[in-house]
This record gives sequence, C-alpha cells and structure tokens, in this order.
Amino acid sequence: MTRHDEAFINPYTFVPFPSAGGVKAEPAGHDRLGPGHYSGRITVSGTARTAIMVRGSVENDEPVLPWHPGANGTRQAIVPGSGLAGAVRSLHETLAGGCLRVFDHEFLPTYRDMASRNSFDRLVMALVTEVDGKGRPLAMILCTDVVWTDAVDLQRVVRGPLHTGMVLDIDERDMTAIGTDWGRERVGIEAATPRSDPVEGAWLVLVADAGAREQDEVFRIALARLPDGPESVSVDDQAWTDYERCALDAEDMRQQRKDQGRLDALRLKEAGYSTGQALTELMKDVRWNDHDIGRRQLVRPWARPGTVLWVRRKDGEITDLRPAVLWRHSGQRPAGERVPESLRACRYPRDLCPSCRIFGSVDAQRREEDDKARQCSYAGHVRFTDLVAAKCAPTDGPVRPLAPLSSPRPGSGQFYLDNGNSVLPQRDNEVLREWGGSADSRQPRQLRGRKYYWSTRPAKQHPRRSDKRKHHSDEMVTSARVFEHQQRFDTTVCFDGLTLPELGGLLAALQPALLLTPASSHRDPAVCLPIGGGKPFGFGALETRLTLDRIDSAGSRYGEEEPPDVTIEQAVEQFRTSIPEEIRDTVWPALSAVLTLDHVDPDHVWYPPGASWSEHHTGRPEALERFDRGYEFWKMSRGQRMQGPGRPLVPLPDAAAGADQQYLKIVPAPKEKGAR
Ligand SMILES: [Zn+2]
Repeated sequence: MTRHDEAFINPYTFVPFPSAGGVKAEPAGHDRLGPGHYSGRITVSGTARTAIMVRGSVENDEPVLPWHPGANGTRQAIVPGSGLAGAVRSLHETLAGGCLRVFDHEFLPTYRDMASRNSFDRLVMALVTEVDGKGRPLAMILCTDVVWTDAVDLQRVVRGPLHTGMVLDIDERDMTAIGTDWGRERVGIEAATPRSDPVEGAWLVLVADAGAREQDEVFRIALARLPDGPESVSVDDQAWTDYERCALDAEDMRQQRKDQGRLDALRLKEAGYSTGQALTELMKDVRWNDHDIGRRQLVRPWARPGTVLWVRRKDGEITDLRPAVLWRHSGQRPAGERVPESLRACRYPRDLCPSCRIFGSVDAQRREEDDKARQCSYAGHVRFTDLVAAKCAPTDGPVRPLAPLSSPRPGSGQFYLDNGNSVLPQRDNEVLREWGGSADSRQPRQLRGRKYYWSTRPAKQHPRRSDKRKHHSDEMVTSARVFEHQQRFDTTVCFDGLTLPELGGLLAALQPALLLTPASSHRDPAVCLPIGGGKPFGFGALETRLTLDRIDSAGSRYGEEEPPDVTIEQAVEQFRTSIPEEIRDTVWPALSAVLTLDHVDPDHVWYPPGASWSEHHTGRPEALERFDRGYEFWKMSRGQRMQGPGRPLVPLPDAAAGADQQYLKIVPAPKEKGAR
C-alpha cells in the first residue's frame, strides 16, 4: 500500500480569474495595414502527447476520424481548423485576461430537497385544469384535506394499479386515522372505488417516484379531497421560473433539456395528447421493493390539463410548485454575479477585450427577436486551417469503447466556489456547497476560475478512467476512434493586422511553452495545448512547435521595403510585458500547472472514488463499480451541520499549490448495492 492508497486527484481544477481582465479597447479594424501592424503566416507542427479525440462521422456503423480529401483521392484525417481555433482562443482568453465568451450568466444549479420538519407545511395538492400557451397553469382545482396511506394496501383495496390523477370514491367510514408523523395524517383505507371525473368530495391520488425510499418500510402515497371546482390561479413569476429550472434538471428531462428546439417540439406534441394518450405516454411505472406501485407522471417543465402538483400559496398567489413533496429547489445568485464584472462577454465592437480584438467577437447575448446581433460582431484577424494528421487515414487505429462522461455539476460549491476558510454554514438548515443562503447574502461567493483538466498519461490504471467498465450500461457508452499518442500534425495559421504584442499573444496561445515555465522538473515536462474532446479522461494534450514563415509590414507587403526583422521570441516578450502583473503572477502559474504534462501523478487522477486504489487494482467488477461511486464523497464534503459529527466542506486545492497538495481523501461508499 502506498501513502496515497486512500487519496485521489480530481480530474479538473480551476485557473483563477484575475480581479480585472485585460484592458478593453477599440480593435484595429480591417480597412488597412497601419503602422506597427503586421500580417504573415505561421507553420505549426504538433505531436499528440496523449490521445486526441475529435468526433468525425460514422461509416458502416464505425466511427471515423474527421477528414478532408488528400492527394490522389486519398482521405487525410484532420483536426478541423475550427477545433484548433477554439482551443487557441480559449487558451488566449486565459493568458490575456480575455472575456468569458462561452459562459451562461443566467445559470443556476438546482439541488435535491432534504426532508425537514417543514417539508409538508402548507402544501396543497392541485389538479391543473387550464394552462397558457407555454404550459403555465391558469386554473386549478385546489384540494383541501391531505391523507397518506400505504400504497400496497390501497392497491389491494382498489384491485388494480394506481396512477397519479386517479380519482377515488371513499366512504368516510372506510377511512381510519392511524396517527400523524411530521405533519402527515396517516390513514388506513378499507374500500375505495375509482371513478372517471373529479367530483366534489372524491379523493385525488398522487403517486410519486420511489427514488431514495428503498430502505423505507412502507411506501406511502398521498390522497387529497377534491373541492367544488376549478378556480383561476396566478403563479408567481419567480416560482414558475424555479419550477421550470428544477424540472429541466430532473432525470425525466435529461435527454431534451439542452435543446430549446426539441423542448418546444416536445411540449407541442404532448399538448395534443388525449387523456388516454397522456395515461400511456406521460406516465412511468413506479417499482418499490419488488412491488409494482403504479404509475407516476413524467416531470415536465410545463403543465397540461390533468397534471397533478403540490403547491403553496401566499396572498392568493402560487409561490411554489412541485411534483413531489421532497423534490428539488433552485440555487440563488446566478453565475453572472459570481465572476469579475470586467470579464463579462464583450458586446460592443468598439470596446473589445484582448482576445476578441484578435479572434473576433460575436455578440451572443440572447435577444428578443431583433436582428442586432449581426451588427455587433467583429471579424477576427487570424485564419486557421485544418491540422492535418501525418500518414493517418480516418479509419486508422482501433475503435475504443469509452466510459460515459458525466455532465459538469457547477452546483457542487465545495469545488466550484471560493469559500474562503468557511467549512460549515452559519445556519443549521443550510448546506454550504449550495449557491445561495447566508454565505452569499452580502457578496455572492465567486466562481473559482476557468475550468481546466490536468493533462495526464495514466500508465498504471487498469482499467483507465477512459475505458468502459462492466457496470456501464450500453446506452451510456459511446465508441470513438481517437488520434493515438505520438500522432504528428501540421498546419499553417495566417494573421493580418496584428501589433507585435498581439502577434506574441497568438504565438503563445499556439505554443504555450514559449511563455510558460513547466510546473514540474521531471524528465519530460512538456507544456501542451489542450485540444479536442474527452479532456476529463486526460485526452487532448498537443505539444506544438512554431515557425514564423513570413511577416510583413505595409511597406514590405505592398512596397519595396524589406520585411521587418522580428523573431518569435521578441513578439512573445512584447506580449509578456503587455499583460497586467496580476495576471502574470496569479493566472499563469496555475495555467502552467494544468498544461504541464503529468505535473500531477496521472495514476491518481479520478473523479471522487468510493473505494481505495488497492480495491481498484484487484480489477474485480464489483470493486470497480464501488470505486466509481462518488456519491459519498459529495455528501460528506458538502458543508453541513449535523447532530454528532458535521460534514465540513472539502474544497478543491489551488491549482498552483504544487502537485503534492492536490490529493483529496477518498470517502468509501457503503457496501450495499443500490445504496445512495
Ligand atoms: Zn471579449
């Protein structure tokens, strides 16, 4: 056993934001090559130091690398110029304090609710009867009494499957009170008859997801007594926005949530369903401890007539909507409030950050159906062409089944937020990792910085974190053909109208080793350009080398003058001195750490594991499955006061803190299968 058998290094870390970005200014424009501005061409040759993954197409059911036609009808595998442009620009933004162009300022995470004494307070079951064009409720039947009963018993009494929205006639004599717990009135039911319409005095059924109830002894479901008829309701704007956000994060919406077009199409399709179709298409089986409990409604970020929800009201307005008592809640203080003001995406073509002045700017702010976006853009001064892979066809190399990539979870504030020295929340009912609450009440905690993945070559991991494991179901796994380690590439990059410091910035972003000292002194400390996909696996380290083929001033390009005598080193030095000291001193060392190949021990890089490395090394499928279960780490590190030992927040170490400081302690997952 090694010293680090019980420790891991998280695959990603953060390069801090500077307190002020690079100075915004008017760009040079494209009308002429002015004094002190240069055009020219750079040759880039590169070597893959880890596998590089760029998605191409699929042919004969096999993935192929992207390609363009080569000589004599051959096909040459490439990294498309757009992929190179994106990689270089992104690195330039970090180096020069450029704006956060690809950044959702409105973003807020959502969190699962935890049971508390107040969970059931003032909750009313409601049957939606009318919605507007976007699916927001306009009228509801707001039920009165709520009771809870054993679902398995009720099923026996009803003699058939239960489902949400079901209406039951129950004689009062057939309902016996059993007691109350946490404000819930529990009853036993002797007889009940389903009926087709929601008449006054009948009972409405809500079947919720089994979720985390597997250990419970009884599966309780709620019934609520229907009153006279529907009434018009007004749903508070904030409550509706929160409901939509939480619903989009629900498991049922995972596939569609990122694509507004697909969302709209789905909503319109489902709005046309008949009651019968809704019963089959918009419901999902609920199983609990080998019992078929019935069918629950699928969670949607909209409602339709027949949708059953829990609601809370205040002064006649609906202030809370949820498909289950314990569901999700939204974080507060969106991402835009958690980054330095000066790093906000550029919007005006006369006032651009250092990166937008070189690579161009498109105003990506969302607008209400006007056409201004086009006038707000600025064309770049750099032209990228495809990186051509030497001696490599699109079908070269093996097809690899890859482990699933989980989606980023910025809601994990223990890693994503700057928590200072705080490890426990000020109040008992708060969780420090969550966006919002008293830790954010005055000045919201800031995001840690730009996210980067360590560039690593795991040698001793079997399986490696990129490999598909036995417990990964087929639907989670994708296969890809990747450029293998040692693959060589060539391309040219053309520039026009750049000043010398700007050219130096472009060169440094193409070959960061020109500017950044390697963070390690081990044998081969390459500083690589991150490119392509699969970075959580350690993919995408490209070591580059540049030649300045040609550089012209206006005089040499259009006249008789000699080309200026400028070297790569001179241009990079000019870039260095043009950058604010704070960026050089705080941003660059962290960036150098993440770009230096194998700066951290590659064999210890993994998402929070649920077992020790010695268990992983056994290679047994059940050990590997447990190793991949990080839930316990996230739970125990979230910053929460408890009776008995608390759960102090565990922050991510600073990227620049040194390779030895990057270890975090593994929190073993419970042994039982399915425990979460
Ligand atoms: Zn910008």
